[in-house]
Order: sequence, then structure tokens, then C-alpha cells
Amino acid sequence: MNAEILAVGSELLLGQIANTNAKFISQQLSELGINVYYHTVVGDNTQRLVEAIAIAEARADLLIFSGGLGPTKDDLTKETIAGHLGVVLEHDEQALTSIEQFFAKRGKPMTENNRKQALVLAGSNILANHHGMAPGMIFRKDERTYILLPGPPKELEPMFQFEAKPKLAAMLHDGGVISSHVMRFYGIGEAELEVRVQDILESQTNPTVAPLASDGEVTLRVTAKAQTEQEAQQLIAAKIAEIQALVGEYQYGIDDDSLASKTVEMLLANKLTIAAAESLTAGLFQAELAEVAGVSGTLVGGIVTYTEEAKIQQLGISSELLATQGVVSSACAAAMADAVRRKFNTHIGIGLTGAAGPTAHDGQPAGTVWIGIAIDKEEPITYELHLSGMRNTNRLRAVKFTCHYLMR
Ligand code: ATP
Ligand code: MG
Repeated sequence: MNAEILAVGSELLLGQIANTNAKFISQQLSELGINVYYHTVVGDNTQRLVEAIAIAEARADLLIFSGGLGPTKDDLTKETIAGHLGVVLEHDEQALTSIEQFFAKRGKPMTENNRKQALVLAGSNILANHHGMAPGMIFRKDERTYILLPGPPKELEPMFQFEAKPKLAAMLHDGGVISSHVMRFYGIGEAELEVRVQDILESQTNPTVAPLASDGEVTLRVTAKAQTEQEAQQLIAAKIAEIQALVGEYQYGIDDDSLASKTVEMLLANKLTIAAAESLTAGLFQAELAEVAGVSGTLVGGIVTYTEEAKIQQLGISSELLATQGVVSSACAAAMADAVRRKFNTHIGIGLTGAAGPTAHDGQPAGTVWIGIAIDKEEPITYELHLSGMRNTNRLRAVKFTCHYLMR
């Protein structure tokens, strides 16, 4: 099944809103193993919508529409589709009742144009709208499936996820199942990962493999269709093994794992305690670890020392070191790591300092980061990073790098 998403709305073309519905629907379809080949955006105009539908019908067998199901004159999606397919619109009694109740509850009279919201394509499968008035619908004709969804994301998202998706999954598999796992990678860019697994990406059918990159991490979603769950899991396991043979050294986790959760897991398994002194990240490292349940078994505490004075007063870092080496330096990161480890009496101490950006700091260009790692009484180890992101991206990347280092 190949899908095209048609977002209807002039405000999208005017740049007033971003097409987040297409993004959402695409993500959901990838979980079903359905390929999305095109995103189309078209204004609230009957003729251009008809043209867009005809183009989509020639290249996709699943057409998903977002927007234009409301009561106003510019909402013309279902009228246009009805005309194009030669299907009549009829009132859906259940939808009409719920719209009437919506107005009765608010003590407002229901205007005639609101009845229009209960109009559906005759013969369609209705998708209830639990967060608004206009129902969605699934309509099938000539081997093609048309799904109509309301524009507001707070209506569309739950409707797709809980109403449309299960029906779509059932249609796809005739009683079969669909399962997926997400492989998580760090330390390899999206482009390089794709090159390394190119043959797999190009030859995929079942399971499908979909790459995604964000915040310095790359994931591959492996989705299999099969008659039974066990069969699907076997297909996925075999595909994962194939991928691991190519890029396994970069994989740090699977599904809901995060760099922080894997770090905490490792620290707990090795009965190691940790503390952090944070300048650049101002507590972000500890906050990321603290998202993981059970972290108190390893994270003892930490301290934010943002200014030079705080580093001197709270950590006892020598003013001479700061004057000669600077705050964004290997020496400062090492001293912070060592001092915090002693202060909290832990196995590991982390020191994070750097120039988050956008401007240089203490003579160091934006994106320069020094990470200090003190382990027991050994001389601290330091790492220098040169990051090129925006301020908060750099801060998060510094935390991720630290976690990844610790995990190894
Ligand atoms: P309503 O009953 O609210 O009029 P509708 O189904 O007619 O819903 P539209 O009128 O097309 O939908 O859009 C309503 C609102 O939904 C828009 O003003 C916008 O805020 C949001 N919206 C519409 N399309 C999208 C989209 N593709 N991505 C994100 N938001 C959207
Ligand atoms: Mg509308």
C-alpha cells in the first residue's frame, strides 16, 4: 500500500501554519509499514483540490486528507471528494446527535451550517471525533482507500491513532499482525549510517526499515508483517542481526532506551555512584539521568557552578587555574570533575564546561565543550568537543556525549 497525504487549507500555503498533520500521519503510517511517497498541500479551492486528487489517485492507493471538514464555506473537502467520486453525502445520525448535544450542553442554538458537519460520504466507515464535532471517514472505491480527517491536530491525532489506524491495520493484514522495533544509534551520522546499510534500505519489503535522525541520534525502525506475532518477531530479529553486522558497534539501545537510561543501567549494574559539576549544562546532565526511575541508586548529587566565583567558592577551583587556563579548558573540566567527586564522595565525578553559543566565551569559539571524567582516585580524563548547533542543542549534545562515554 502506497500513501499520499493531502493537506487541505489555504493557511498552509500562506505560511500561517506548518503542516504538522502530514508529519504526524507519516510517522504513524511508517509504524504500519505503509510507504508514504508524496505530501501534497492544496488550498481551499474546489478545482485545484480535484486536480490534486486526480494526481494522487494515479500514484497512490491510499489517500489521506486533512482539513476542510468544518462548518464554514471554505471547508469543502468532503463535498469535493463526493463530487469527484460520484458519491452522495448523507447525514450520519450519530454525528448529528453528538453535534446537537454539543450545542445543548453549552446552551447555544445550533446553526444550520453546523448540520453540515454531520454529512458523510454514503457508504463510508465513520471515525468518531471525541475532541470536536466533524466526524472523519474511511471510504473505499476501486481498490483505493480515502481517509478524511479534520484539520485541528488535537482532533486529527487521536482520531487517526485510535480510530483510523486499527482499521487500516486490519485492512492491511486480514487478521495478521504488524510489529516493529526501533534500533538506536549514537556516534554515527544519518548519512553515513544510510550509506552503510544502503543495500538493506534499497531491497526492503518485509520487514521495512525506516531511518530517522534527531538530536544527534539516528534510529532505524524495523517493521514486519506476518500471520502471527511470533513470526513477526522472528522476521524483525533476523533483520536486526543483518543490520548489526554492518553498524552494530554504533547501536546503543532499542525501543524506549535512551542514552541516559542505558547509562543509569550500566552504573547500577556496576554499583557505581556518580556526581556532576555543571557549568555549560547547568544541571541538564543530572536532569537527564533523573528521568530514569531508580537513578537514586547511582546519582548522589551535584552542583551548578556557572560563574568563575561559584567554581572557586563551591568547588575550590584555584583562581590561578582559571586565570591561566581559562574556564573553557581541559584543566577546568578536570578540576570540576575531581572536586565534585570528592565533595559527594562518589566513584565518578563529571565536570562540564564550555561555550554553549551563540557567541564565544572566555576566548573559546561557540560550541567548544570540555568534559571531565574523574574515576576514583585516578587522574581525570578530559574530552574536547566542537559542536556546531544552536545553544540548547550544544548543551544537550554535551550531555549525550558524556552518557555515551560512560556507557562504554
Ligand atoms: P474546523 O472544524 O476547525 O474548521 P476543519 O476540518 O474544517 O476543522 P480546517 O478548517 O482546514 O479544518 O483547519 C482548522 C484548523 O486546524 C486550522 O486553522 C489549523 O489551526 C489546523 N490545521 C489545519 N490543517 C493543518 C495541518 N495540515 N497541520 C497542522 N494544523 C492544521
Ligand atoms: Mg474549517
